Amino acid sequence: MVDLNGQYQEIKEQVNTSITNILESSAFINGSDVKEFQKELEDYLGVKHVIPCGNGTDALQIAMMGLGLKPGDEVITADFTFAATVEVIALLQLTPVLVDVEPDSFNIDVAAIEKAITPKTKAIVPVHLFGQCANMEAILELASKYDLFVIEDNAQAIGANYSFKNGQKRNAGTMGHVGSTSFFPSKNLGCYGDGGAIFTNDDDLAHTLRGMVNHGMYVRYHHDVIGVNSRLDTIQAAVLRAKLPKLDSYCAARKAAAEKYTSALKGQDHIVTPFIVGDSHVFHQYTLKITNGKRDGLVAHLADKGIPCGVYYPIPLHKQKAYLDERYKEEDFPVTNQLVKEVISLPMHTELDDEQINFITSTVIDYVNG
Ligand SMILES: *Cc1c(COP(=O)(O)O)cnc(C)c1O
Repeated sequence: MVDLNGQYQEIKEQVNTSITNILESSAFINGSDVKEFQKELEDYLGVKHVIPCGNGTDALQIAMMGLGLKPGDEVITADFTFAATVEVIALLQLTPVLVDVEPDSFNIDVAAIEKAITPKTKAIVPVHLFGQCANMEAILELASKYDLFVIEDNAQAIGANYSFKNGQKRNAGTMGHVGSTSFFPSKNLGCYGDGGAIFTNDDDLAHTLRGMVNHGMYVRYHHDVIGVNSRLDTIQAAVLRAKLPKLDSYCAARKAAAEKYTSALKGQDHIVTPFIVGDSHVFHQYTLKITNGKRDGLVAHLADKGIPCGVYYPIPLHKQKAYLDERYKEEDFPVTNQLVKEVISLPMHTELDDEQINFITSTVIDYVNG
């Protein structure tokens, strides 16, 4: 599904030298690379504050803590996403409110958000799923109409941007009150272990968050708020510093592979290629819909042929044991309930070549329409 070695070979000298220097200096925590990476990512994203942290799940959790959300506050997010999004809402004893997604973009359905808003609603968490931004124009309008926070889960779309109707373009993760990302190795900007970051343009919130990631300490051994221990290791920051200048080229390589997949697969019966809203999909995943009931068979067939694939996601969050809730009604989730039966993600990374893509697409077509 992913091939991380090709990227490593390109930056090997720089990464090995940086890591050796860190080993020699023993500055494993809060070394200079962390601060430098923070600044470089702020510049890249055009955001005032980046707060590095331990992983993308912590980033979401700390963002919600920093906004002062309280037990019982309702937080609306998508039913069709990785569980981390709903997990942190529940962990903080906030009330998750899962809503359906759009059938074409797979992103949170704005009409469903509005329907779910109650006097207890405090925040919306759009997930920019598979590398493409949710409908941020409408989400930000709703948020301002109902006075809600917007927390962007940008674990899958770093490097993407979003165009507003007035022509303004903003980077994914920097449009809401706060955004989060993950540097898990297979993400579009991945390190060599766990890592994450929080983004905000709000100076006060940034200050709060910087303390929260480090035990609520603003002055050493003075704990002003309840925090957590969630830091980006110096070694991971050094890896990310080598990779950040290449992020645009990584996204371009993913886009190029996606275009090749699509040109081979589009127009085929029963195969729906990804729906692209603007011009900025960074293809964390390349996800098809197989509409003739052969999705599960295709998964098995690809495995037989030695082609990796993934089903993201096989179970709607509202049906996961940990998140069952009698508030949910099946008729509120027609799209997610359908998508879990139809989606399949093909190998997607920066090292795919034409021969691999041709073999994968012809195998898919032969099976689905053979
Ligand atoms: C990967 C991911 C996360 C969690 O990131 P980790 O760094 O693995 O904790 C959160 N949300 C989404 C949508 C993700 O894809």
